Amino acid sequence: MKKGLLIVISGPSGVGKGTVREYFMKDKSLNLTYSISMTTRAPRNGEVDGVDYIFTTKEEFQKAIDNGELLEWAEFVGNYYGTPLAAVEKLRNEGKNVVLEIEVQGATQVREKCPDVLSIFIIPPCMEELEKRIRGRRSEPEEIIQERLAKANQELKLVSNYKYVVCNDDPELAAEVIALIIKRNS
Ligand code: 5GP
Repeated sequence: MKKGLLIVISGPSGVGKGTVREYFMKDKSLNLTYSISMTTRAPRNGEVDGVDYIFTTKEEFQKAIDNGELLEWAEFVGNYYGTPLAAVEKLRNEGKNVVLEIEVQGATQVREKCPDVLSIFIIPPCMEELEKRIRGRRSEPEEIIQERLAKANQELKLVSNYKYVVCNDDPELAAEVIALIIKRNS
């Protein structure tokens, strides 16, 4: 059986990666599965443990790093995020195309370990719109919002490290573009 693709989706916090992903994951012909990350951040309203993230403690996260259980990991605005390696490998060996939704430092680690990764960066139509979307989430204090915006400016400088760049003005359209990219690379 052909090993599944490894697909990395990055983009600044608030750009709508999750919404775009929900749309393109509906296309069953793409044979996609989502890699659930581990994080030490607290769940947001409506987030479910084991579905959106595996929510964990800093101690457990450190253990996973020490035991080499993570394909990549990064610290982002005071919390740790990482991709469990075993789950990704199992799914790819079953022929599934695995989607990682991760930030830029993690994407760099994945690129080093798996040079054939299909990397896609989602950009906002403009920074004002990004700020509006982050604020619209109403889940974080002003200080964190400012940190996320500063981080977004840094991340946007790294788009050229990615194979494809897709603008999320309309999430359904962005998802269709990504679906086409995946088909062309399958
Ligand atoms: P959020 O707190 O908004 O859910 O995620 C913050 C950032 O961490 C987002 O850019 C998200 O894509 C990224 N992220 C989520 N899971 C992982 C992961 O497993 N590894 C890395 N490196 N970043 C992740």
